[in-house]
Amino acid sequence: MDYRGLVILVIACPCALAISTPLAMVTAITAGTKNGIIIKGGEYIEELNKVKTILFDKTGTLTEGKLEISEIKSFNNYSNKDIMDIACSLESKSNHPIAKAFNDYKKENRLKIKNVSNFESIPGKGLKAKIENKMYYVGKKDLFNYTKKLLNVDSLKDNLNKTSVIVGNDKEIMGLIGLKDKIWKNSSATIKGLKNEDISTFMITGDNKSTALEVSNNLGLKGFYHDLLPEDKVNKVEEISNKSSVAMVGDGVNDSPSLARTNVGIAMGMNGVDVAIETADIVLTKDEISNVSKFIKISKKAMNIIKQILVFAIIVKAFLVILGITGHIGLLKAILTGDMGVTLVVLANTLRIGKTKHQNKGLLIC
Ligand code: ADP
Ligand code: MG
Repeated sequence: MDYRGLVILVIACPCALAISTPLAMVTAITAGTKNGIIIKGGEYIEELNKVKTILFDKTGTLTEGKLEISEIKSFNNYSNKDIMDIACSLESKSNHPIAKAFNDYKKENRLKIKNVSNFESIPGKGLKAKIENKMYYVGKKDLFNYTKKLLNVDSLKDNLNKTSVIVGNDKEIMGLIGLKDKIWKNSSATIKGLKNEDISTFMITGDNKSTALEVSNNLGLKGFYHDLLPEDKVNKVEEISNKSSVAMVGDGVNDSPSLARTNVGIAMGMNGVDVAIETADIVLTKDEISNVSKFIKISKKAMNIIKQILVFAIIVKAFLVILGITGHIGLLKAILTGDMGVTLVVLANTLRIGKTKHQNKGLLIC
């Protein structure tokens, strides 16, 4: 009887069950790391499996965020140079992706930066600062409403069909600058891949409606929300996460509060700002948007394998316990099958999570 008890003890020992989940998580995390995806904890792998909606920021996330100045329009007798002198001077103090376009323009056209004081960056709207004791504003339409001065910015509406920046002072609009950005070459395939996984994709952006519509149509997103301030982004995230589990992908300071509120926050790590990277649960170190769908596949595979392993181990062990009780299995066989055997099968299966197969230029998970 003591011998049978020992056989049953060996078979019933849950080491295979105990190692399966942590091992699968570590393998999934390692698979992610190999692809430039840093995961700050195993719980996000589990959470990603529940995600039904993914919200994407636009600039720097779905688009490259490498903006270029493509158009300058001047008003009220100001010259293009007047406008760009002011805009470049204010933007030299900003670290928004838009500012980079102005810095490039400044270098190319050898503009001299003017002394700027009382500089203020208004998230999701733009910048304000004093030059030679006069207040200037560089940003979107709302920035001018924000000043509570009645500027006739509505007359510019027709011009606002791409990412655009208005330059003005307290009294009048000086000009309008159009910027173009490129959509990441993998954004469209990523959105399609997520659709195949039954995940709805939306864009949340601070940019205007027509730019948002163009990007959304181009990528086949389920929908978009435009002209959102950082707090509007948070409200949107909370509203959607009340209905289902939500992940968000973003790169900017403006995205950080919403990244913190989502079930899984994902930051674009290469060009993303530090605060977004720190707040996020997952960081894409290569700014490779397709890694979002890639890692969802990895995490789904990990969770499926964990379930398969648990069912397999429980069934095999239950069967062997019956053999042990009825005296049909000896100690050595019990060790080789119920203990070592099951553990090795579990090990071999968890390693499948990290297996990838090469297809064209990208890596696809088997
Ligand atoms: P997104 O959500 O697309 O990343 P943001 O919320 O950062 O965009 O910005 C929203 C809008 O605010 C921009 O499209 C731009 O019109 C204006 N804006 C923000 N920062 C700046 C800046 N530094 N200079 C000019 N305009 C800005
Ligand atoms: Mg952004």
